[in-house]
Amino acid sequence: MTPLEEHLKRRIALDGPLTIADFMAEALGHPQFGYYRTRDPLGAAGDFTTAPEISQVFGELIGLWLAEMWRLHGMSTGVRLVELGPGRGTLMADLLRAASRMPGFLDAVSVHMVETSPALRNEQGKALAPHPNVAWHDSLAEVPEGQLLLVANEFLDALPIHQLVRTETGWREKLVVWDDGADRPAFGLSPGASPVETLLAEEIRSGADIGAVAEVSPASLSVTAEIARRLQTGIAALIIDYGYRNSAVGDTLQAVKAHDYAPVLVNIGEADLTAHVDFGAIGRAAAGAGAAVHGPVTQRDFMIDLGALHRRDALLTRATPQQAKAIKSGVQRLIDPKEMGTLFKVMAFTASGGTAIDPPPGF
Ligand code: SAH
Repeated sequence: MTPLEEHLKRRIALDGPLTIADFMAEALGHPQFGYYRTRDPLGAAGDFTTAPEISQVFGELIGLWLAEMWRLHGMSTGVRLVELGPGRGTLMADLLRAASRMPGFLDAVSVHMVETSPALRNEQGKALAPHPNVAWHDSLAEVPEGQLLLVANEFLDALPIHQLVRTETGWREKLVVWDDGADRPAFGLSPGASPVETLLAEEIRSGADIGAVAEVSPASLSVTAEIARRLQTGIAALIIDYGYRNSAVGDTLQAVKAHDYAPVLVNIGEADLTAHVDFGAIGRAAAGAGAAVHGPVTQRDFMIDLGALHRRDALLTRATPQQAKAIKSGVQRLIDPKEMGTLFKVMAFTASGGTAIDPPPGF
């Protein structure tokens, strides 16, 4: 049994079964044994890789997008440049390099990294060593108020979800129970209704088939609402993740270890856990909190529209044959519909009203 499984066994004995959201929060974020607290999960030697680790073009285009939004919004100063879940710091380093070509941009922003993992904070510090103006926070709520430029790549997919199952007698919540016979965790169902049912999109709540699984992520909805609230003073946020364009039924909770799928209730705390992002729900939450919502568009369309292929070709003119191969395959992986190109989506939020930039570049 992993240390985290021992902990879950004790917690379930004391408190009773866990919701899937509690289970995810423990598996990923337990202060001592949580997956993200204990390791750098990224890269070939880790469990998974992400767009900024695959190609520098990803972060560069995002840097140009943020700088352009800043310019269109009137080049104000004192802007909070925030990244949620910044991994190894690669995206922030690449985007700052690209955005620094916009005169005045670097002086206008302070950088705020929202990261709970000590191991990853350490990596981020190394990646951002040349930059003077960087602060770290445990949550967006801790970032000082001010105009906002925000980016989050593969962050929302790591936030806890609840799962609900439609039964003959109504929606029930999926739980993690302890199977004393096997001395292992197992899935169960709540005996009665769950309050999170009210967060389901109405067409799913009333229209789903018996047996259907639906997911809601109050944690994602509340961080989205907080982003939207902060955007009332300007400027823009960019959310990139894999998921659905519209709310849909389906069990998307998945564990990944060493670049391969793994069972969710095995090696708890030692595999990554994620769920598809419901962009329909995120968009409704942002609009409900007063932001203008753009997209989602596919990662492929967004990157090509912003000039990914031109940037690739510019890099190729200065590359060795070996570098050229990596540059081509990296960009291809990000835009190919058979790889990340269409599964990954991009959504932007901007301030609505008089200062709105509509549509932002790429949408
Ligand atoms: N954006 C990065 C890393 C994605 S992995 C990239 O594209 O490479 C998810 C990131 O979110 C990690 O940095 C992880 O430590 C962080 N994270 C996960 N849950 C978090 C939470 N609740 N609060 C802050 N950061 C979190």
